[in-house]
This record gives sequence, structure tokens and C-alpha cells, in this order.
Amino acid sequence: MTVTETERWLELLEQKGSRITGPRKAIVELMVDADHALNPVDVFDRARVKYPKMGLVTVYRTLEVLSDLGLVERVHQADDCHMYLRAAQGHEHLLICSCCGKAAYFSGDDLGMLIQRISMESGFSIQGHWLQLQGLCQSCQPKKIQTQQGE
Ligand SMILES: [Zn+2]
Ligand SMILES: [Zn+2]
Repeated sequence: MTVTETERWLELLEQKGSRITGPRKAIVELMVDADHALNPVDVFDRARVKYPKMGLVTVYRTLEVLSDLGLVERVHQADDCHMYLRAAQGHEHLLICSCCGKAAYFSGDDLGMLIQRISMESGFSIQGHWLQLQGLCQSCQPKKIQTQQGE
């Protein structure tokens, strides 16, 4: 039997000492499938459809534990710095729409040469990097620009 991503997350939560309840399961399912960045209130509103007795505190706590586990990450948007998304896996980076929060992941950044140069210039031993691209997804781009590009 293959373990689904949801089951894997729930197992990790349980190992962290969180009891698996209906509301927690609903939050995990939501975050595993989310392709848009969500803030805790978004998560609360959506999860409440499934579990009307959902508490906002449960949402905050569950997101915090998931974030500690590295399963979700906080993403920074211009107008909202408390949005969450499934964490990038392996060496993936996040691409996020600054208008609607739609997310995509990409890999294959070519930073080796740049990092080497910066390391030599600064004397730092560089251990990692954090990269997030932002822009407008296809449905948020003004139609006018798309037409101009097509001409
Ligand atoms: Zn968008
Ligand atoms: Zn990278």
C-alpha cells in the first residue's frame, strides 16, 4: 500500500505529539493540495466547510507544527506576510503570483558560479540560499499586455 502525502504528514504530526483529529486531518488535506498561498483565516474558512466546529486556534497551531516540521513554509507577499504553502521539496524553489497567490515550483537554478564568486569576494563560506520569484500568473496578467506581446 502506498502512503499518500496526507498520511505521511499526519504520521509526522503524530510523532511530534499532535493527536490526529478530524479538524487536523482536514487542515493537512487542504495544505497538501493547495496550489495557492493561504493565510490562517483562508485555511479556517475552507476547512470549516468540512468541519463546521473548526477552531481558528487549531488552524494556527497546526500550521505552526507543520511549519516546524518543514512541511509548509511561510511565504512573503507584499500585503500579507502570514501565508503558507506546501514547502518546496528537494532543491525546488517557489514561484508565486503577487496578485492571487497562485504557486508553482521550479528547479534547476544555476547559482553555482555566482555563489562561488560571492564566496571569494566576501570570504564567507556559503551554506545555502533562499530564492523565491514573484510575478503575475497567466490569469492575473492584464489582457492588454498579452495582446501587445502577440502583435
Ligand atoms: Zn495570479
Ligand atoms: Zn537553488
